[in-house]
Amino acid sequence: MRLALMACLALSLAAESPLLVKAARLLDVRTGKIQSPGQVLVQGNRVVAGPVPRDARVLDLGDRTILPGLIDAHTHLMFPAGLTELQHLKLSRAEMVIAGVVNARTVLEAGFTTVRDLGSNSQFGEVALRDAIAAGTVPGPRMLVSGPALSITGGHGDLNGYPCHLHVERENIVDSPEEAVARVREWKKRGVDLIKIHATGGVLSNHDDPAAASFSPEEFKAIVEEAGRRGMDVAAHAHGDAGILEATRAGVRSLEHCSLASASTAREMKSRGAWMVPTLYALECIIVPGNPGRFPAGSVEKAKVIQPRREAAFRQAVALGVPVAYGTDIGVFDHARAAADFRYLVAYGLSPLQAIQAATLNAAGLLRLESEVGTLEPGRSADLIAVEGNPLEDITVLEKVAFVMARGKVMKGAGR
Ligand SMILES: [Zn+2]
Repeated sequence: MRLALMACLALSLAAESPLLVKAARLLDVRTGKIQSPGQVLVQGNRVVAGPVPRDARVLDLGDRTILPGLIDAHTHLMFPAGLTELQHLKLSRAEMVIAGVVNARTVLEAGFTTVRDLGSNSQFGEVALRDAIAAGTVPGPRMLVSGPALSITGGHGDLNGYPCHLHVERENIVDSPEEAVARVREWKKRGVDLIKIHATGGVLSNHDDPAAASFSPEEFKAIVEEAGRRGMDVAAHAHGDAGILEATRAGVRSLEHCSLASASTAREMKSRGAWMVPTLYALECIIVPGNPGRFPAGSVEKAKVIQPRREAAFRQAVALGVPVAYGTDIGVFDHARAAADFRYLVAYGLSPLQAIQAATLNAAGLLRLESEVGTLEPGRSADLIAVEGNPLEDITVLEKVAFVMARGKVMKGAGR
């Protein structure tokens, strides 16, 4: 019996000879150096150190650049993109889950091998999607999920502007520190990895103010402290300075959108180790001339007010040392365009290497996954992509990812 088991083990090891992935170039995202030629040795689902064994299989990706799999720290996989508010209201839980399965594959094929999903009202469908992907049942990126974002009555996560005889169940509404504690515990029980909150009003929501803070300082504190007791971080949707500051003071780990942070707030973020997840294209796409995304007039007006001020606020926060992690808010726009933010990050002043680091090293740090993803150093998950050309010379090559490997499996490109 024991001999048979050992023979079986030896067989399965022999079947898994290491794979050498080669290409003309490899970008070391830590140093910014291009190695030419580039190569990564993969054993099973891990990157391993050389030397390359004689029996290694070889996958030659040709005249391409290898990078670590990308990370999007702000997605909404459970929503089809481009829905009107009424279409959103009519969406069933089952339809959201189907959208999630489709979008997970789309995002993976766009080069994103890890995402942090910041909410839907799919009754925790994203928890099931995360687990199905981890089990290999459904193709998609590794996911961390927040479940529905907590919001105040009348806030970005409430339904506003409807007659009061319409009643829609909103289990994510929190209006006191006690309710906050209960809801964080409930969300933990449902299997989320982190808590998402709406610290200010929004751009795509009716009748709320993106500049105004939502929760009271006591409510912010109760949420962050209870999340911490349950081993969870908190991400806060926040446009206006007051909400960004209150959330930061309470100990929120990342400020999503972070559109209008003042210099003093940016300093507070830096000193408390809070991250900025800017989601630049999600705002830019609302004000594209002709409104091809068919955004409501009220949202276009809000975006037009915020957009000119946000570039200056972004540049200022970066100059003051606030770390940036890549995030898109896909779901607001098409999931196939998950790489859309790179060109805006560069247009707003980051170097191409800084933009790539935001989506690799930095995002891995924000997600506390730095020993697992974000680089191609030995021991990391074998998550890698390849693009035509050199992304340090032209960041937009990341919008057309040619090859994707996730956890050692080729999911797009050569050999599939
Ligand atoms: Zn979002």
